Amino acid sequence: MKFENRVVIITGAGSGIGRETALLFALEGAKVVVADINEKSGQGTVEEIEKRGGHGFFIKLDASIREQSIKMAGDVLEKYGRIDVLINNAGIVQDALILKMTEDQWDRVININLKGVFNCIQAVVGTMVNQGSGVIINASSIVGLFGNVGQTNYASAKAGLIGMTKSLAKELGKKGVRVNAVAPGFIATPMTAGVPDKILEMMKEKTPLRRLGEPRDVANAYLYLASDDAGFVTGTVLSVDGGLVI
Ligand code: NAP
Repeated sequence: MKFENRVVIITGAGSGIGRETALLFALEGAKVVVADINEKSGQGTVEEIEKRGGHGFFIKLDASIREQSIKMAGDVLEKYGRIDVLINNAGIVQDALILKMTEDQWDRVININLKGVFNCIQAVVGTMVNQGSGVIINASSIVGLFGNVGQTNYASAKAGLIGMTKSLAKELGKKGVRVNAVAPGFIATPMTAGVPDKILEMMKEKTPLRRLGEPRDVANAYLYLASDDAGFVTGTVLSVDGGLVI
């Protein structure tokens, strides 16, 4: 058990990649904090963790609201006395071509996918620095590396996370805190459920490994980056995309 007694916060852990990640870390002995805006699905993840004999704790969080991020970190600290890992996994899409994108679509995606990560990091980083240890992982995307039609807002946020990750790795390395990002390709989750079959087939054909990603593929990458096996890895962006270059 690689995470026995370690306290791991996973945002957006009620669904998709975050849910799978929560189950995997719990299996490895972590005390998993399921932080999600959606109470029903977040509680569902905790129930599943407990059914499998693990330890989970739900906190309702809208990561884009600063006060909620600060309260979440305070509640975790009060309950467990430490914070070992923060996985900034929560994210949304609000796709539109640039001529049609509304200011609200831009603001919502930037506020949740970029500022929400800043909020959660600021809420936990003091604790990690005081501990002299901690790991932060941010969910970027291949779209943040290569761009995508109709996703100017999303790609900007995900590219921003790469700059944030690299800057913080430089700032926090000497304090014992590692900061990395993952860049998933196309992963089958509720977020991508509406994509037409024709596009999915095209994606598969363009992917050297000839399949779509599963939540477990990304969860495994988070697990590696959070573990001591990655003790000399910081400031990196790990692509989990089957080799796809969009
Ligand atoms: P998902 O299935 O939609 O899960 C996202 C979770 O985050 C949901 O439970 C959602 O709640 C929650 N959430 C939304 N806004 C939130 C907020 N403001 N604060 C806290 N929680 C919030 O998505 P996913 O596919 O697993 O994606 C996970 C991460 O990977 C995201 O950052 C995404 O951008 C990134 N990613 C995904 C893919 C892919 O192909 N799936 C590819 C590259 C990167 P609701 O269900 O109520 O909205």
